[in-house]
Amino acid sequence: MRCSYCSLACQFDVDTDDIGIIGINYQKGRLCARGCANEILLKDGRRLSYPILENLSARWNDAIMKVAEAIRRYKGKIGITVGAEVTIDEFELIKGLSQTLGAKIYPFNLEGGFGFSYRLEGVEPGSVTELRKVSRLVTISDVFSVGPVLAKEILDFRLRKETRHYHIDSLPSRVHHFADETFSLNTGDEVRSLIDFARENPVIKDLRDHPGLIIASANPGRFTDPIGYSLAVQYLARTIKAKIIFIAPNLGWPGDGNLDELFALIKKGDIKLVLNFGDEIFNFRERIKGVRLITTSSFKVETRRNWVILPVPVNCEKKGRIPGIDGDITIEGTTPPSGVYPIEKIISLLGEELKISIKPAMVRREVFVDEAFLHDRITGSKSKTGKDRFLLFGFSNPLNFRDLYDYPIILLVNPRDLVRLRLSDYNETDVSSRDYRVEVMVRRNSMIPEGTVAIATDSLRTWRLFNITGGFLTPSEVRIWKGRST
Ligand code: SF4
Repeated sequence: MRCSYCSLACQFDVDTDDIGIIGINYQKGRLCARGCANEILLKDGRRLSYPILENLSARWNDAIMKVAEAIRRYKGKIGITVGAEVTIDEFELIKGLSQTLGAKIYPFNLEGGFGFSYRLEGVEPGSVTELRKVSRLVTISDVFSVGPVLAKEILDFRLRKETRHYHIDSLPSRVHHFADETFSLNTGDEVRSLIDFARENPVIKDLRDHPGLIIASANPGRFTDPIGYSLAVQYLARTIKAKIIFIAPNLGWPGDGNLDELFALIKKGDIKLVLNFGDEIFNFRERIKGVRLITTSSFKVETRRNWVILPVPVNCEKKGRIPGIDGDITIEGTTPPSGVYPIEKIISLLGEELKISIKPAMVRREVFVDEAFLHDRITGSKSKTGKDRFLLFGFSNPLNFRDLYDYPIILLVNPRDLVRLRLSDYNETDVSSRDYRVEVMVRRNSMIPEGTVAIATDSLRTWRLFNITGGFLTPSEVRIWKGRST
């Protein structure tokens, strides 16, 4: 079995007895806290195993009839939203459904899922085992927050003679003190400073003269221009002739429009029905007020009268292809509880009820771009903050994954800012955007630039603090409230 919460797709087994699941078997390697969450999700007592109609449990037949009725009624005013966790096979069918219904797809690409979507010619993905052959390693951003298997390979690389490890980053991470040499990028202006590094830094000669590998991580809310960042990493790879491993927590999907557009259309009344696959939508309840929602969910959620909720498998129960770091991987999945239907089956039942044929559609997941496109991304649009405001970035902390572990949401703050805010290490306070507020525990961190703070985006509760730009979660301006010490 494979964990599908990031592109590393670590392996594990699920042990069962006659009654059900006993637990996760780690024989095939270690998992990070996100991977271990598979066990919590599999055993979670809040699993949904029947459809919900008008706040009540319903039979599948009735639910499918109701969904078909809504689709007929709102034809021409339907938007489809897709979460990052659907498999490739599921997405191809959802795409087929969207083409048949003439409805646009607005994907939740918020989980840093750009990876290799935009490609520069001449750059290839690498694999973890290649670390055993190269003598130079460049890590970019925090590559240690997930991937114990990867961390072990990096450790083995470091123990080999005549290897060098360079780390490039704009925010603090566990890799800073581990590498032979660390280079800082300007926070909020990573694209330009990474390109400058590739063009001018003296270390480039050493990297060109030795076989190397780049491991770059991507996190939601981490970069002002996520696509530009991905291209700048590829530009560096091409300059030093190295392959790239992109670690992204789930890959997103190409759509016909982005979330900003969808929310604007809902506000104008041009979208009346949202068909959703995935559970990110529940974090945007306020933005979909007034529309009819038909959504999948693996768990019981607080519902509204005009919502239809259809129970689907959790990630590790799914079968099919998922995107990995160097190509697609087929996952086997374990058996879901009875009453839970895979997305493929739901779409097939819907096709029968609507008397339409829904076929999987080919999905182009890569777009090749040229130097001119990259040049346009180097805008240097470093965000400015106002008085008493901070620029908020996202970082990865798997212990906050979906709030499954009882772990506080940490806000990393520069020591000078902490004094200015009259706060101390471990104090609890609130951080807020224009219309949203979250309780956090502040942690002092001298590597965070003044005027900048960072928060874990593994907790979906933090997402609404960020901006949504082109479908991606991007840094935003926030306030930190003084006082309320522990
Ligand atoms: S590193 Fe990625 S694939 Fe491996 S356990 Fe963690 S989230 Fe899952």
